[in-house]
Amino acid sequence: MALRQLTDRVWVETEHLGSNNGIVSGGDGRLALVDAPHRPTDAIAWAATVAGLGTPEFLVNTDHHPDHTIGNRWLPGTVVAHRLTRSRLVDAAPTRAYLRDLFAVIDPAAVALVDDYEVRLADVTFDERMELFVGDRRLELHHAPGHTANTILVHVPDEGVLFTGDDVCNLGLPAFLDATVERFFDAIEQARALDFEHLVPGHGDPGGRELLDRHRDLGREIVGRVADARDRGDTREDCSDRIRFEDLIHAGVGGDPGYPDDLVEHFQRRSIEQIFDDLETDPSLRDR
Ligand SMILES: [Zn+2]
Repeated sequence: MALRQLTDRVWVETEHLGSNNGIVSGGDGRLALVDAPHRPTDAIAWAATVAGLGTPEFLVNTDHHPDHTIGNRWLPGTVVAHRLTRSRLVDAAPTRAYLRDLFAVIDPAAVALVDDYEVRLADVTFDERMELFVGDRRLELHHAPGHTANTILVHVPDEGVLFTGDDVCNLGLPAFLDATVERFFDAIEQARALDFEHLVPGHGDPGGRELLDRHRDLGREIVGRVADARDRGDTREDCSDRIRFEDLIHAGVGGDPGYPDDLVEHFQRRSIEQIFDDLETDPSLRDR
């Protein structure tokens, strides 16, 4: 566990397996949380850590993926997310079989919790933009479809902090299967247009605005590699067999195991196929 105080009123935990977990304090004992841990045992411990700083009024999910939403179950606060984050969790809730297999690898102590696990859905949703007020701090939530169609940015202007969800990561690239090439780059530019000093990525260490360029460059590199292979006549399947990108997001942390190898392999293959398909539709995307 590595809880870090980023500014006067913002804390970030970067060493949970899964998403970064943020805390914004309103200065009056009330808090807003950004994303929930993936491992149930982390979520239970996180609830205790958070309680040491105040009482969560809101819990914001930046997308619907399990590594941002599973832990909702063990955290208090009104859950706030994009409308599609809620509906996609309704349509494709993780099954108990999936959770049992996953927890057996990433959180064996949590397998016993699967039987009475229920997804905790958003209580409040929005489409384009929403403001949350906690004490004397304001959170601006912006729909910024990039990593997923429903990813949101969480801007805390008074702290100069931007939580980007997985629109920007700092541990290699996130899985691309819910993204499109066009949106991937658009979302980075949408983040760039906001005024902030500290960037909290969906995964990996916080930094400054330079993380925008680093993430864009990694995206350009992988799109370029798929485009080059396609130009040489490689098929979709060739590309998905051969091209791999750096993904430390799904690797273990602190001696604990990371995600099952077959899941990581699935993310890689589907990501490359998505990029290939987008380039088929519009080859000029390689120049983004
Ligand atoms: Zn994520």
